[in-house]
Amino acid sequence: MPEFEWGALGPGRKGRFALTVREGLTLPVLAVRGAQAGRTLLVSAGVHGDEYEGIQAIFDVFEALDPNGMHGSLITAPIANPPAFWNGTRTSPLDGGNLARVFPGGAEGGATEAIAWHFDRRLLALADFYLDLHSAGVKWLMPTLVGYHAGDPAAEAAAEAFGAPVVWRHTSIAPGRTVSAAAARGVSSLYVEGRGAGRIHPDDLAVYRDGILRLMGHLGITRGEAEPRPPRMRLAGGGNIDEGVLARQKGFLTPRVELLQHVTEGELLGTLHDEWGRTLGAYHAPRAGVVVLIHACPLVAADEPLFLITGLAG
Ligand SMILES: [Zn+2]
Repeated sequence: MPEFEWGALGPGRKGRFALTVREGLTLPVLAVRGAQAGRTLLVSAGVHGDEYEGIQAIFDVFEALDPNGMHGSLITAPIANPPAFWNGTRTSPLDGGNLARVFPGGAEGGATEAIAWHFDRRLLALADFYLDLHSAGVKWLMPTLVGYHAGDPAAEAAAEAFGAPVVWRHTSIAPGRTVSAAAARGVSSLYVEGRGAGRIHPDDLAVYRDGILRLMGHLGITRGEAEPRPPRMRLAGGGNIDEGVLARQKGFLTPRVELLQHVTEGELLGTLHDEWGRTLGAYHAPRAGVVVLIHACPLVAADEPLFLITGLAG
């Protein structure tokens, strides 16, 4: 596979490339340069190695696009964290790193930091707009949603255009993320979550795939206005799952709430059990709001996020 070199791909062409991070570690890059000049959309998936919806959506969109009809370009990194992807895990088996916590990374750091460093300098640097496709992975369950930072009107307009069933507005973005690296470059961004579970639900795939195409239309890269698709729920608040309700110890979790359920402060969210079925602890809502994340795999480790509650946009 040729080394990724954006200047080497001529107008009206598609190309598959490898972006070398270090010896034995490359990122696949699929790029489409429109016949006409315009904006460049960067899309990533697989930042966490057990989130598959975005990977399939990128593969599908890359096949479907006709560069001759495009005014602008699409650059994609469908598997942004190959060591984690091939290991089937959220984090990297090489250094335990979480690629969504180490940006902007470092060239001389561990494998995960080096990936971040190259992603930031060689891909994000090319982008006019950035979309990061996540999902709940094998352990969690999340609603299919698009999230954005409230301080960025371009991101808000793009989030509306994306067409996800739930839109989540954040007043802050935690450091170390792909989207915080984009913000540091002045690049507006969106991220997407889906139900996950290590599978690809066809409804989610359709949202991801349509969303990329709708976003390209919104940015003027493709022609044709998409039908408005208003969300059925708007959320507002923190989205950092590290600040959710964390497991105080390992155990077997029985959730007592459903996704997108409204809860009151102090309401029971779930109970943790030992291997004899005895209750180890009860977990309650730290605030009133909407359940936006559930640890759907019953086996939980100490300190893992079990639930996350956020607010409704008012
Ligand atoms: Zn993720």
